Amino acid sequence: MDKKCICQETQRHFLNRAFERLKLKGSQRELLLSSFRETRITVPVTLRHNGENRLHTFQGYRVQHNHARGPFKGGLRFHPDVNMGEIRALAQLMTWKTALVDIPFGGAKGGVAVDPRQLNETELEELSKRFCQKMAPIIGVYDDIPAPDIGTNPQVMAWMLDEYSKTHGFRTAIVTGKPVELGGSAGRLEATGHGVAHLAHKAAAEMSLVPEQSRVVIQGFGNVGSHTAIALANKGYKIIALSDVNGGVINEAGFSIDHVLAHVNENGGLTDLPGSSPISNADLLELPCDILVPAALEATITCDNAEAIRARLIVEAANMPVTHRADARLQQRGIVIVPDLLANVGGVLASYYEWVQNLQQFPWDRELVLSRLEKRLSHAYEAVRDLARERQVDLRAAAYELAIGRVEEAIRLRGF
Ligand code: NAD
Repeated sequence: MDKKCICQETQRHFLNRAFERLKLKGSQRELLLSSFRETRITVPVTLRHNGENRLHTFQGYRVQHNHARGPFKGGLRFHPDVNMGEIRALAQLMTWKTALVDIPFGGAKGGVAVDPRQLNETELEELSKRFCQKMAPIIGVYDDIPAPDIGTNPQVMAWMLDEYSKTHGFRTAIVTGKPVELGGSAGRLEATGHGVAHLAHKAAAEMSLVPEQSRVVIQGFGNVGSHTAIALANKGYKIIALSDVNGGVINEAGFSIDHVLAHVNENGGLTDLPGSSPISNADLLELPCDILVPAALEATITCDNAEAIRARLIVEAANMPVTHRADARLQQRGIVIVPDLLANVGGVLASYYEWVQNLQQFPWDRELVLSRLEKRLSHAYEAVRDLARERQVDLRAAAYELAIGRVEEAIRLRGF
């Protein structure tokens, strides 16, 4: 089975389990699983190819899943594999995430089936602006607010802001994840990793783990993995192994993260990091440690390696890094898992704060953004933990139950 099918099966399993616990009727389940609106557009862009201009037509998508609790909110992905099925599943996940951290948004996702690395800057600008122009009738500051995702970045958001503002006046709040110069939020870049580290620290404290004596392993050293490492190291944790797509590095004494960052900035990756020994990505996951943070890809912990995992706590920075079958085995072995739905929601929270700052025309400083982020994440964690204790279930089951229950309640109150 390929990774996409495994993830779909995993997602279905967790949702069905929550539906059963919430005793939802078939009609309620159908409404919760249905998209409000699915839009497919063609995006024509003039590409320069072998010295000639050629018109190329890309397929673009926006799925608005549910807006019972507030405007649709979700990223925009530029990737060759983008299709309606994938965007639909990701839009749904956004609905549960925004509900879990209790922010007044629903869930959406968008994408264009394109490899952005094959386009030059002018072509990317044209693609981003055309996409925005064609989606303009269904997005809006109080309707649907896009943000960056895989293959898009603050520059793409700046182009979309410009396009939308041509017909609607200057509307910074139409997208989040913008450059700070155009109303982007301080702290947005590190928000997801900062949130992962905050929740890892909270869960570790409840397990009586002492930072200075706790060994941390992180798979993936991109945006999320690196900021998680920085924040955990600042709290005193011992980061003993790190990896990227080319493999891992280990130092039993613990890395100096400043030293690691300097090496990565100079060399483009972790390979040959002075003072470390190499380790494969597969072996890294099986290292004896206190905290394991998968921050790279989905489905990295499966039935094939679940029995070999020797962490006490897993904090899911990546989306769906543990399959549902592996999850059952890890839970049986008493390994605590802070689920993706909760662990990596810091970026969504920072997006919400950016939107609020834009509406108020009043920017906050980084400390205020991160302290509000920590406070709200702590509330979400405590609500999930308390429900898990009350129902005698794991954190993931409680997180799904809490999030879906909130969406269901909003639907009931509004009378959809
Ligand atoms: P990124 O592209 O910045 O970094 C990904 C890292 O994973 C890189 O270090 C890369 O080398 C490494 N990697 C890629 N393939 C690998 C492999 N086969 N084995 C080991 N390492 C591999 O991405 P990111 O923004 O840090 O996102 C990481 C994960 O977190 C993704 O699953 C993403 O969906 C999820 N996530 C990100 C955010 C966010 O705000 N960036 C929010 C929520 C969830």
